[in-house]
Amino acid sequence: MRTMPRVLIVEDEPPIAELIAVNLRHNGFQPTWAMDSETAQRELDDQLPDVILLDWMLPGESGLALAKKWRKDARTKSVPILMLTARGDESDRVAGLDAGADDYIIKPFSTKEMLARIRAVLRRRSPEMAGGVVAIGLLVLDAATHRVTFDGQPLKMGPTEFKLLHYFMQNSERVHSRGQLLDKVWGDHVFIEERTVDVHVKRLREALGTAGVLIETVRGAGYRLTAQPLAQSAAATPVSS
Ligand code: CA
Repeated sequence: MRTMPRVLIVEDEPPIAELIAVNLRHNGFQPTWAMDSETAQRELDDQLPDVILLDWMLPGESGLALAKKWRKDARTKSVPILMLTARGDESDRVAGLDAGADDYIIKPFSTKEMLARIRAVLRRRSPEMAGGVVAIGLLVLDAATHRVTFDGQPLKMGPTEFKLLHYFMQNSERVHSRGQLLDKVWGDHVFIEERTVDVHVKRLREALGTAGVLIETVRGAGYRLTAQPLAQSAAATPVSS
């Protein structure tokens, strides 16, 4: 399961960066600070953050140029960017958004507003990180309220099936071996036979009802949750003559 969202702060003024970092840390984020474009690039090459807070006015390459560059790069293009800017001018805001920023914060800003905007971009880009809601097609899981619905109808399941489903939904389309599932869902300190996974997958499918087909058995490999189950696509695909 994902842990605290990582935030890369690109800001050349230490007091501002420090203030942002402290507030992020107190609110469940993992901040990293880069004071110039080279350091920021190194941080990005090393590990992708979940969101980038990017100052507009930086020495050397401007925040605007960096945003453009990162949007073009296949590796970084989907990381949300929030521009920090002292400029309130509408044309500047438009330039920032055109460069690929997801949103902007005008300095001076309240930390409350900053947190709200970070959560909002995370919600848009990766819903599972912000409010704990994951959706695959009509199947929706809310980790905060422990509710699962399919096509708006609530589904009941045990805590292990819930955890299993949450993991499957956060890592959909990927095939997971029984060993991996035990490790990720049950935890690696527990000794349980791999057969146990089969029992819980069976229970999960039953709990899901018609959505049970979303969980596929991949012969010799394990299980996966897919938005396009074979059972459905086979039925939907016309047979060519
Ligand atoms: Ca600056």
